Amino acid sequence: MAMADNNTADVIVVGSGIAGLSAAATAAQGGARVILLERAPREDRGGNTRWTEAFMRMKSEDEVTDDFEAHFMANAGHHLDPSLVQEMAGDFESRSGIAKTLGMTDPDVISRFADKAGPTLQWLKSFGVKFDFLPSYLITTCTTRLAPIGGGLALVEALSDWVEDNDVDVRYETSARGLIHDEDGAVVGVISSGKVNKTSDLLAPSVILACGGFEGNSEMMVHYLGGQARYLRPVARGGYYNKGEGIRMALAAGAAPSGDYSRFHAEPLDPRSGEPEPIVLIFNYGVLVNAKAERFVDEAPATVDATYEAITRDIHEQPQSIAYAVFDARIEDVPNWRRAVRSDVPPFEASTLAGLAEQMGVDATSLQRTMEAYNTACPEDDGSFKPLEVDGLATAQDYVPPKSNWARRIETAPYMAFPIMCGNCFTFGGLKVDPDARVLNTDGEAIPGLYAAGETMGIYYGTYTGATSVLRGAVFGRIAGEGAALRRND
Ligand SMILES: Cc1cc2nc3c(=O)[nH]c(=O)nc-3n(C[C@H](O)[C@H](O)[C@H](O)COP(=O)(O)OP(=O)(O)OC[C@H]3O[C@@H](n4cnc5c(N)ncnc54)[C@H](O)[C@@H]3O)c2cc1C
Repeated sequence: MAMADNNTADVIVVGSGIAGLSAAATAAQGGARVILLERAPREDRGGNTRWTEAFMRMKSEDEVTDDFEAHFMANAGHHLDPSLVQEMAGDFESRSGIAKTLGMTDPDVISRFADKAGPTLQWLKSFGVKFDFLPSYLITTCTTRLAPIGGGLALVEALSDWVEDNDVDVRYETSARGLIHDEDGAVVGVISSGKVNKTSDLLAPSVILACGGFEGNSEMMVHYLGGQARYLRPVARGGYYNKGEGIRMALAAGAAPSGDYSRFHAEPLDPRSGEPEPIVLIFNYGVLVNAKAERFVDEAPATVDATYEAITRDIHEQPQSIAYAVFDARIEDVPNWRRAVRSDVPPFEASTLAGLAEQMGVDATSLQRTMEAYNTACPEDDGSFKPLEVDGLATAQDYVPPKSNWARRIETAPYMAFPIMCGNCFTFGGLKVDPDARVLNTDGEAIPGLYAAGETMGIYYGTYTGATSVLRGAVFGRIAGEGAALRRND
């Protein structure tokens, strides 16, 4: 039974991706009356989560991978003050305000994340979702990834059905625009906006912001990422709904920022394709050239999963933010390479490099010069090419930039090339939370009544710890839902 005319609840959740759905279901299971706001129409619900395969960095259904916390901490921030980092070793509550709000991934938050991942996955299974180590588009990998059968859509459908069947008041095509405070500074509701911009005040002692990052907001993208952000786009339709209001309204209410506001999770996309996530992840077997037909990066420093983000960021820095991955006929030596290409548009193909350059729209002489230099730097083909492992087949030492693995001459027609742009999977900048998903203000104090989960909380700096964003949404959505349900009795 929905509370259609009732604008009060125990918990208001904003966003119905994995974070918001986990929060809403958990709060409802805890006995709370919940209103769930979702900007998208029902058929498009689920945000980014709807479109992902939802790989999770886990070694089993109970445990995260061995490198989980270490990868986060290796990417915890930049040139951090060692005295403040040392403070992090102490208990969370005993830290100073500046340490609690430091622009750094909080180790206690990551430790809670790791501890709760297994139980959260078991909880997701209680909705009928099954998990397995499913094949992915990553041909070489450095860690294990578990995924729900049916991907993020299966998570969205299972949890959405449950919340709709269990009295959560789900309001589609309704966006949160601002927070409501009481005179003591506690958050006590949100201003929502529906069709024809009609606004309503919705009241609850707890508000959970689970409305994604700002990848769907061109103004915030340029504001935080600079002018080159004009060339970015979300990797799939769900990201366009994430316009950063959750982050904005909380910052305006005094929340501390967290996560790298100048970064996002980068993925290499074929710009010509309108498919969801039209990635092209085989450049490690070829060469990447920019619009001047020049190489600019080591295409293959290690396994694809560990390196594609940094390389895609380099693509983003190139003129017009575009590059081309060039191959020859011997790409066929890579078993099943097509599984790493999700574009529905065929590559440019030609029997000569000049013909290929014409299709790419680059200068043919420059491309030929680049390929000659590359081919000269490649080692003798002695059969040591091993497509499914890091093979150490590297270009000559004096050749810059080097190619560290899978370096073979590109000289056998037909030639082919895919254009590659940088896609924005999700933004890193968000809100600082404590291990209980409570949003901290800029003095390190929890803002009473305010929680954040999923992309809206900021935990990533440097390189994305791959296959952790869906898991983050589920784990911290659940933690926030538990905390918010308990507050209704306060
Ligand atoms: C194609 C693709 C592949 C990916 N692959 C992986 C992967 O394998 N593993 C992994 O961990 N991550 C992956 N990611 C990233 C991951 O899917 C997302 O970061 C994660 O699902 C985000 O969950 P969320 O709940 O925080 O946000 P979302 O799922 O984006 O949900 C946010 C919701 O909030 C709604 N909303 C936004 N603003 C408002 C507002 N003001 N009011 C009301 N509602 C609002 C949106 O409509 C949306 O439904 C992938 C993403 C994509 C798109």
